[in-house]
Amino acid sequence: MTVFDIAIVGGGPAGLAAAERTLAAGLSTCVIDEQQRPGGQILRQPPAGFSVPGWLSGAPYRKGRALLDKVSDDAKLNWLGGHSVLGITPDPAGEAGFTLALSGTMGGVSEVQAKRVLVAGGCYDMPVALPGWTLPGVMSAGAVQTMVKAQQVLPGQRVVLFGTHPLMIVLAQQIIEAGGQVEAVCFAQSFAQMAKAALAHLPRAITMPAPLIAAAGGMAVLRRAGVQVRYGAPVLRSEGEGLGGVEQVVIAGPKGEEAIACDLAAMCYGFLPQADLVRQVGAGVRWSNPAGGWEAVHDDAMRSTVPGLYVAGETTGVAGSDAAMAEGAIAGLAIAQDAGVLTARDASAAMRGPRSARKAMQGFIDLLRAVGDPRPWLPAASAETLLCRCEDIPAGAVDKAIADALAVGPSFGASAIKLRCRAGMGLCQGRSCEHAVIRRIAAARSCAEEEVDGFRPRFPARSLAIADLLDDAG
Ligand SMILES: Cc1cc2nc3c(=O)[nH]c(=O)nc-3n(C[C@H](O)[C@H](O)[C@H](O)COP(=O)(O)OP(=O)(O)OC[C@H]3O[C@@H](n4cnc5c(N)ncnc54)[C@H](O)[C@@H]3O)c2cc1C
Repeated sequence: MTVFDIAIVGGGPAGLAAAERTLAAGLSTCVIDEQQRPGGQILRQPPAGFSVPGWLSGAPYRKGRALLDKVSDDAKLNWLGGHSVLGITPDPAGEAGFTLALSGTMGGVSEVQAKRVLVAGGCYDMPVALPGWTLPGVMSAGAVQTMVKAQQVLPGQRVVLFGTHPLMIVLAQQIIEAGGQVEAVCFAQSFAQMAKAALAHLPRAITMPAPLIAAAGGMAVLRRAGVQVRYGAPVLRSEGEGLGGVEQVVIAGPKGEEAIACDLAAMCYGFLPQADLVRQVGAGVRWSNPAGGWEAVHDDAMRSTVPGLYVAGETTGVAGSDAAMAEGAIAGLAIAQDAGVLTARDASAAMRGPRSARKAMQGFIDLLRAVGDPRPWLPAASAETLLCRCEDIPAGAVDKAIADALAVGPSFGASAIKLRCRAGMGLCQGRSCEHAVIRRIAAARSCAEEEVDGFRPRFPARSLAIADLLDDAG
């Protein structure tokens, strides 16, 4: 079996920026992604053979698209699209260093071996359990965006966006451009609260004006389209008749409850780092504020705490695509240095640019995190609201399991609750409910979320048919 110098998990901005550097250094490079085509979330491409006039032609996408074109066109790149990495096994004594188990869209399990591995798995939407969130037509903003961007499909015609994250402005714009109607964008926080949160970070953020200008441009598009952008409008629940789907969302308005009719309600409270593989290998992570989840820790050259394993992009904390590209470039250079094909001096000189670019972005990143902080605004689940959708476990059952565990002693984590009530035991392996279970445990134990152990990460990181594993064994 070929042993690659480097296997990169994730073909988004971070993974591509790393590949650009490792390919330039002459390292055999394999990029694995569950998407068929490279680009990651922000540059999610339509299927090959589709032609979409003006696809992501705006200024915010220009740098990423240039990188995408350059790396995709490199004949030396080994692109393994349509493959999910299920697990990474280190073998420090072996020639390979790491074995990655993959499942492909055509079924079956295969393996890739590499001397070094970079995990650049990005982030995913934070799912928030509120009454009515399992109705058809209630989706995450990212899922709607994926359908619009990659498939040119609008999953509804009358759309309400709700949550706390400014990405709603970008999505509303994309829905309008795709011919949909945005009934309302409902920010839970008031405009004054957003402005106050922004002001503290403005002096540092203003040094990188491009994202602020893009946000202002997005607001202008919404204004021209007559979209009502509501502030101080937290959504309490979504409502509809059974399988007929969502018919309205109910907000707490200034004069009491108010219903807004829609056939698609998309929530956007923030994003969680995708660090399941990193946790599985046993590399260090920490709780990721403000939205939650676990972000990989690293040194100043993106080395994780496991030798030979590197991390970059939103696996290390949600910070946007420019930050992901800078981190990917640093990781790629560190990999080349550690592989002995770049001197420490040359690597350090080449890292100077991406490092200072990454540093310069921090002001805007902090501003965005403060403005979109979901923590004060997470809607309350009722006792019947499903918290774990895979196993159908309502919030009331999770709370009872927490109360029972607390009666035994105060130091328990999410896995103890999983054993008591099955929350997190289903197909998604807790990707959806872990952050909510941890928040509830932290509240019950009166401690910070970072003090609560998460679910024990296990193989496989993605669901697969047992037959695929059996075929592989046989
Ligand atoms: C749904 C969604 C929409 C977004 N839209 C925008 C936007 O419009 N504008 C914006 O500025 N930012 C957006 N973001 C934030 C955006 O993700 C980042 O700014 C940027 O794409 C991060 O780059 P990255 O390389 O770290 O991760 P990503 O671009 O997310 O790339 C990570 C890649 O890793 C792959 N991957 C993850 N785990 C595995 C696995 N186990 N096996 C195989 N492949 C795996 C994923 O398929 C993905 O392609 C969005 C985020 C999400 C989740």
